[in-house]
Amino acid sequence: MDSALNNSVQYLMWGEINEEKFFEELNKCRRCKFCVDECPVYLESQRIETMSPFGRVQILKYLLKGWIELDDVVITSIYTCLRCNRCIEVCKDKGVDLKPAALIRLGKAFLTKNLLGG
Ligand code: SF4
Ligand code: SF4
Repeated sequence: MDSALNNSVQYLMWGEINEEKFFEELNKCRRCKFCVDECPVYLESQRIETMSPFGRVQILKYLLKGWIELDDVVITSIYTCLRCNRCIEVCKDKGVDLKPAALIRLGKAFLTKNLLGG
């Protein structure tokens, strides 16, 4: 496990996925977008917001609440994260410490387990 993960995310990773707790973590995002320019996928995508750490966090949040449907945009957004963890560092540097890459990894597990029948 990534040593940068905090206790709450470790709980989410290792325990049963708790949607309420997962949403609480995602909802800590301040929407500052300092992370987006650190993401190589976002930059390669010509700056499509759903391909950024910020966009992925928002998509997972909306998906959990049922505000959006699972579609190709969601799948592409979540499953193209390279797990490089660059977003973790900048989010921490800016004082939020959301650990977006860890939440996106959890989001992949959530999608696979609960939505894709994996
Ligand atoms: S840097 Fe952190 S708080 Fe800011 S938009 Fe990115 S994930 Fe959200
Ligand atoms: S871990 Fe994923 S979301 Fe974060 S910067 Fe790397 S590719 Fe982008």
